[in-house]
Amino acid sequence: MMVEKILANLEKSNCATDNTFLQAVSEVLTSLEPIVSSDPRYGQYSILERLVTPDRVIAFKVQWIDDQNRVQINNGYRIQFNNSLGPYKGGLRFHPTVTTGVLKFLAFEQIFKNSLTGLPIGGAKGGSDFDPKGKSEIEIMRFCHAFMRELHQYIGARVDVPAGDIGVGSREIGYLFGEYKRITRQYDGVLSGKPYAFGGSLMRPQATGYGVVYFAREMLQVELQESLEGKMCTVSGAGNVAIHTIEKLQQLGAIVLTCSDSDGAIYDPNGINLALLRELKEGGARLSLSEYATRISGSVYTPKADYPKDAHAVWQIPCFAAFPCATQNELTLNDAKKLIENGCVAVVEGANMPTLPDAIELLQREGILFSPGKASNAGGVAVSEFEMSQNASMEKWDFDKVDRKLDELMRQIYKRVSLTAKEYGVERNFVDGANIAAFKRVAEAMLLEGV
Ligand code: NAP
Repeated sequence: MMVEKILANLEKSNCATDNTFLQAVSEVLTSLEPIVSSDPRYGQYSILERLVTPDRVIAFKVQWIDDQNRVQINNGYRIQFNNSLGPYKGGLRFHPTVTTGVLKFLAFEQIFKNSLTGLPIGGAKGGSDFDPKGKSEIEIMRFCHAFMRELHQYIGARVDVPAGDIGVGSREIGYLFGEYKRITRQYDGVLSGKPYAFGGSLMRPQATGYGVVYFAREMLQVELQESLEGKMCTVSGAGNVAIHTIEKLQQLGAIVLTCSDSDGAIYDPNGINLALLRELKEGGARLSLSEYATRISGSVYTPKADYPKDAHAVWQIPCFAAFPCATQNELTLNDAKKLIENGCVAVVEGANMPTLPDAIELLQREGILFSPGKASNAGGVAVSEFEMSQNASMEKWDFDKVDRKLDELMRQIYKRVSLTAKEYGVERNFVDGANIAAFKRVAEAMLLEGV
């Protein structure tokens, strides 16, 4: 009842373009119903109402000059959602689909993800509707500098520490950091995901994708006594998370059959050629995946226009486990039906909220192991926090140390989520387990800090 009322109020106070935010809040609050009614303090101190309202929504104008000397204007944002557990922390996304609604959903999810890591970090997200596609290297640099000229006043190593996300990798973080340093004269850990040359952590680029696979390995081992070795897997996306998920899956002996970008998908029955994928996507030109099919015989490229209705080409391919690693709402009910029909046993989210609510419900009902992104993709933010620790102590950890800590942390997250699900009578429901475990930590801090 309390949850229904909060959702209704939220719908009234948020504009119609905030659908993804309402979708994320609705999923979390539904999971929390059993726990909020068990403790009167949550109602007394309006914990849920406060939790679904961002501390601050910052919007600013970004003006920059393109290669033709024309003035360009974009919208920039930073949503500081909740800092009960530590400084605001969450990535920056540069993509034409960025709106306050999308960033509010991502920042809200980030509170729970960061809580699940057990580390002292709060939740935030930011970005711009700037489209890096087709821009020259110098234009990207000018845009990043212009973006930071506004953003710098709201962030700080103990205040808010942004990182990368879609369209923002270590190159962009490098330009952002350069401008921050010039304006403030501070050389501190104000951004994570920095290049290794000046304060970045080893393994940060790999962390999200590797973490997704460490989580999957643990979940499959404990729940089904299965390994990934020799298993067919499907992955969507062709960016940072997808590439490192594919890399770790291949290192563990799995055969990865697919990848995708915004324009289409590749099916390679012999297993994705990772070196070629990297050449296409990590080089300066960022080429289309259609190029992959022209170079690898036997592989098939399906343009987005030819995807089945309300479905994605990647999820039509039979697999043991599926890893959505591109973007939100990319695995539909039709896709879930197809995965079940084809004998898939697990869906492990690498992206944030890639699976639609009705698809999650069906997968869970049919006994498919389903891991929400806030649990399985938390490795990225965890290694970002390791970067903050290294910056603060002026230390550099070696690759193996970070990798071991990441592996251990992903196992801990799995354990926390599955034990909480058991404790609340929803065994193997990792969505509820993740939401409840994360909520308890944040809510306790909010109660202790007072209003
Ligand atoms: P990225 O390097 O920019 O790659 C994103 C990939 O998804 C690209 O292949 C991109 O294709 C595709 N894509 C983007 N928007 C799409 C759309 N609307 N429809 C279809 N495909 C789309 O970004 P990333 O860092 O890998 O992030 C991927 C997902 O993981 C996001 O949900 C992000 O929030 C989440 N995540 C990232 C991290 C991290 O550490 N990077 C951590 C946790 C969660 P194009 O290149 O053609 O646009």
